[in-house]
Amino acid sequence: MHIPLLDLKAQYDSIKQELDQAVHRVIESQKFILGPDVESCETAVAQYCKTRFACGISSGTDALIIALMCENIGTGHEVITSPYTFFATAGSIARVGATPVFVDIDPDTYNLAPDQIQKKITAKTKAIMPVHLYGQVADMDPIVSIAKKHQLTVIEDACQAIGAEYKGKRAGSIGDYGCFSFFPSKNLGCFGDGGIVVTNDEDRAKKLKMLRAHGSSPKYYHPLIGGNFRLDSIQAAVITVKIKYLDGWSNKRQENAQYYERLFIESGMVKKVPLSLPETKTNRHIFNQFIIRVPKRDELITFLKEKTIGCEIYYPLPLHVQECFRYLGYREGDFPESEKAAKETIAIPIYPELEKPQMEYVVNSFKTFYGI
Ligand SMILES: *Cc1c(COP(=O)(O)O)cnc(C)c1O
Repeated sequence: MHIPLLDLKAQYDSIKQELDQAVHRVIESQKFILGPDVESCETAVAQYCKTRFACGISSGTDALIIALMCENIGTGHEVITSPYTFFATAGSIARVGATPVFVDIDPDTYNLAPDQIQKKITAKTKAIMPVHLYGQVADMDPIVSIAKKHQLTVIEDACQAIGAEYKGKRAGSIGDYGCFSFFPSKNLGCFGDGGIVVTNDEDRAKKLKMLRAHGSSPKYYHPLIGGNFRLDSIQAAVITVKIKYLDGWSNKRQENAQYYERLFIESGMVKKVPLSLPETKTNRHIFNQFIIRVPKRDELITFLKEKTIGCEIYYPLPLHVQECFRYLGYREGDFPESEKAAKETIAIPIYPELEKPQMEYVVNSFKTFYGI
């Protein structure tokens, strides 16, 4: 049985007509830059995230960069973040000229460990950038309270967590900025690159809109130096269609996660192997990825690939030991939980259209591999 890690075609086929019509409507209008499609998308996303404003951006990476630019964060500044995330988190900090300062993760949630933030704060610290990895919101109460105490900005890297909740609050609405990606493999993906920043602050929303169009207001007058960080109208139209289905898809992912949990527990593997299933703390986890911590990880991956089961390592090398960040002076051993997670975890298929026999095949393949 061939089971891909993600099956985007199944999702597309389920709402093909509506998506095709939306894209064709934009093509017919020949209005490809900003305008009503981007505005509708912003309204829909702000409403979904329970924030006052949203600003459509060219990608999730650019969403992080523009949030940093909006706070005038650059050379001589430090931003605290996790080393166990997709590269763009720390990459965006370095690209505005600031220094990423890493803090290790909580091994249960893979998110920033709040109790280790305080000791990393210096006079140069300007912001904290927590990541809501795999679809679960980081422990935001202590993060926001440390930020308030030191007057730091909180920029949520919510790229993997649209619709996730923390104590009833939606991802992206808790800090000063929430940054999202519409990369096709996220829970809400477009037909290329795209992203959005949400905020509850009107001045920040206005500045973001200027910055995404070369810092201009009005057109051809530039109070600020911005860039071309616009979300395409076609991508905005795709998102406006898809967002109506997002909760249904996220619920299906949660149901799949529950079914996996049942299968893994009933198989005895959790205790006997042992393997660790994802831990959902107080949040609404939207399972962008279903991550298991396993022994003999690399051999297991080879075995699953032979069984044509899609799986992946997110992420094999933490950011503090990446070649491009050598200048930061970190070494192997500095963040043991991140390093351990990078060596022990595996992502297995969790997409909404996945069917029970497919999940059973995945779990049975694990059983064969571990001889259970
Ligand atoms: C996907 C992702 C990004 C970057 O988004 P792009 O749209 O690919 O630029 C940033 N941070 C995290 C945690 C992500 O998963």
